[in-house]
Amino acid sequence: MGKTRYVIALDQGTTSSRAVLVNRRGRIVASVSRPFRQIYPKPGWVEHDPTDILSSQLGALTELLVSNDLTPSDVECIGIANQRETTLVWDRATGRPVCNALVWQCRRTAPIIERLCGDERVAADVRARTGLIPDAYFSASKIAWILDNVPGARERARAGELAFGTVDSWLAWSLTGGRAHVTDVTNASRTMLYNIHEGRWDQTLLDLFDIPSSMMPEVLPTSCVFGATANPSIPLGLPICSLVGDQQAALFGQCCFDAGQAKNTYGTGCFFLLHTGTTPCVSSHNLVTTIAASAPGTRGTEYALEGSVFVAGALIQWLRDELGLIGSAQETEELARSVEDTGGVYIVPAFTGLGAPWWDPDARGTIQGITRGTSRAHIVRAALEALAYQMSDMCAAVQADAGRPIEVLNVDGGASANDFLMQFQSDILGIELRRPRCVESTALGAAYLAGLATGFWGGTDELRDLRDDDDVFLPRMDEGRVRKLLAGWAEAVRRTRSDL
Ligand code: ADP
Repeated sequence: MGKTRYVIALDQGTTSSRAVLVNRRGRIVASVSRPFRQIYPKPGWVEHDPTDILSSQLGALTELLVSNDLTPSDVECIGIANQRETTLVWDRATGRPVCNALVWQCRRTAPIIERLCGDERVAADVRARTGLIPDAYFSASKIAWILDNVPGARERARAGELAFGTVDSWLAWSLTGGRAHVTDVTNASRTMLYNIHEGRWDQTLLDLFDIPSSMMPEVLPTSCVFGATANPSIPLGLPICSLVGDQQAALFGQCCFDAGQAKNTYGTGCFFLLHTGTTPCVSSHNLVTTIAASAPGTRGTEYALEGSVFVAGALIQWLRDELGLIGSAQETEELARSVEDTGGVYIVPAFTGLGAPWWDPDARGTIQGITRGTSRAHIVRAALEALAYQMSDMCAAVQADAGRPIEVLNVDGGASANDFLMQFQSDILGIELRRPRCVESTALGAAYLAGLATGFWGGTDELRDLRDDDDVFLPRMDEGRVRKLLAGWAEAVRRTRSDL
């Protein structure tokens, strides 16, 4: 009898590093999470200490191995999913970072984007090459900032002494004891330096941001052998078989392998991805085109259309922490159900402006339609409904760009646990929602991609069969009511806009 073997997924997120044990049946059987420090040196600046990222991740891995009595022979391979775009630069000889990691949320490089990509023709050219709307969010301007601001960095970079990497590269480098300087196509596609059509670092963009090409990691497929562990603090010789950006990992973990399949993650914000097959779909609604994770042996690059809603679960946190209307996010479901409707109340949570498809950064949030009879339950229900309405606007934009309807939406993330929200979402979208038993799609995706590379799983059909029965939500609200609610939402958004 063969011994039970496992794939370990490392899920390096923005606020915590996790290690997750996945068995051959695709079940998560154990996990360990280690939070780490967020550094806010100035308003709008966000940093992570690279050694915190590494030590929390190694700590989680070690604890997972020890607490489950695992020896290296129990582990088939490791897969890594990571927070995307976050930028690190380190010395190739010593492995020492030249400064803290600039986190994706960090806005300090907005002036660099304005200076280099402010011209409309340049912006359109960047967009055509990378699929991205030029923004400080992506890695390119963050590398430029480091080279401009860390004393001596530019000279050292020109002399070939420095290496750039997103978090996947940093972990792969550190876990392999500096042997592998690699990334994968999904992470590369978030740097704004990778030509997603030609499949290589784009020299025109490296020139635009004045980044020496010697700094760049080698770009490999998402599911392949990147190297083996050679770091003395963990067992040696474990193969690392996937690197994948967290959202693409979630899309894969939801078994969205084919064109037309989509997932939405309801977390602090919402992250929506639609698989578009081997066609890079260009948006006319401010969505971005990104590279999707592919199973080994897939012919050609696969793409996804991606959109995000800034404020989703964050609105629920606001009700709890700022208004004190609820004690916990879980309470919202029962409260929302305690009333028949919102009594005409709409909340438009434009805390930091209205995102796609309006793109109105100066708008600010509103609560509308309040009467003397408005209760706490009405407000809470309006908040949950606002999450669904925002997604509905996004889906309309996505369907217009993709030129096809979305038939099923796969959901995950913390707020997807709310059955009221899921039912309302299905009603408003008029489509079926599927929620897997295990909503840890990111970790599963990284594990699946790693296990496919070694043959632990035979292929995507086998992975589909592993999926548990989903909870299914089908639209059941009558169309007249849906139309009326959506018209009310559209009017609420109109009143929220700053530019009318
Ligand atoms: P992230 O990964 O972005 O930190 P999670 O996927 O852990 O987020 O989801 C947490 C978010 O979901 C929080 O903003 C919380 O307010 C919201 N949330 C959690 N449970 C519920 C629930 N039952 N109903 C509504 N919102 C919820």
